[in-house]
Amino acid sequence: MEIDTGEQSKMGANGVGVGAKRLPHIAILGTGGTIASTAASATQLHDYKLTGDIDAILNAVPQVRRIAELRAEQVVSVDSHDIDNAMLLTIARRVDAVLSQPDVEGVVLTHGTDTLEETAYFLNLTIKRSKPIVVVGAMRPSTALSADGPLNLYNAVRVATSAQAAGKGVLVVLNDRIGAARYVSKTSTTATDAFRSFEQGCIGEIAGGKIHFYNMPTGIHTQATEFPIQGVGDDLPLVDIIYDHQNAGTHLYDAAIRAGVRGIVLAATGNGSLSRTARAGARSALHHDVRFVRSTRVAQGVVTSLADDEMLHMVAANSLNPQKARILLMLALTRTSDFRAIQAYFDTY
Ligand code: ASP
Repeated sequence: MEIDTGEQSKMGANGVGVGAKRLPHIAILGTGGTIASTAASATQLHDYKLTGDIDAILNAVPQVRRIAELRAEQVVSVDSHDIDNAMLLTIARRVDAVLSQPDVEGVVLTHGTDTLEETAYFLNLTIKRSKPIVVVGAMRPSTALSADGPLNLYNAVRVATSAQAAGKGVLVVLNDRIGAARYVSKTSTTATDAFRSFEQGCIGEIAGGKIHFYNMPTGIHTQATEFPIQGVGDDLPLVDIIYDHQNAGTHLYDAAIRAGVRGIVLAATGNGSLSRTARAGARSALHHDVRFVRSTRVAQGVVTSLADDEMLHMVAANSLNPQKARILLMLALTRTSDFRAIQAYFDTY
């Protein structure tokens, strides 16, 4: 479906500007990241510093004020690998608060790309609203030759102003693509097309100044969530990820349990397979009433159930990668520690 929400829509068929109309009100929240970073030269694309804020980002894209009335706010200012649970809750509460304002029609969150998918998925699970929520980042600093941040930001605001973006869950906009928070993941360390959804594909794109949506995420999200941010509380349960590999020991499971985790996500080999040490780790988790989710280090595909899941009270992560499985397990544990109930969440969110 094509929706013309670019500047062309402000021009009549004969190219003459049509009467000014009220611009949509979009809240734009900054959190830091490469999109707000600068480097020593235009050809230095990596090893940069977080120096800017949301105003600096917007000053680089004056055109964005022709398509939306913006209310800018800096929520946190960190590289996203430093976002902790407290900041995640702060971000989600601000997103929810600005969307609760009747005249705000959508929100854009600027964010570092390293953990963008975790925040986007957390919002997908906790913001019980249908207004558009668009998360945007950049792979190159603002000082770079062919910096991607400015156009990514412009496109993100455009998507947030489109009625068709409502009700599709949290969206991630980079590199002209519109990804669903449930599916998209960072798949390259440096390339500008880093955000991909290999199996499910992106749900839309921006092309020729128009927004094209072509499918919908199928899981439960936003409006239908059972984890509204208002009910999440201030202390998210501690959940760690353990990466399995040849010759792995059991010491990381012991350390995590001693640290007081409520859940462990296994980035398992293959289809969530249990090595001998991972099986020992799952047994120890069960003994200490720690929930154990089998995800995978493999880039795509569904982790299917195992007969041992019943015996060891394990949960199969469906198609959630380890970092997203951790987000869902944290929220699930705010409601239940029953592994069958948690499995039902993983099969539907
Ligand atoms: N390199 C990251 C970025 O692209 C830094 C971060 O995640 O904050 O934004």
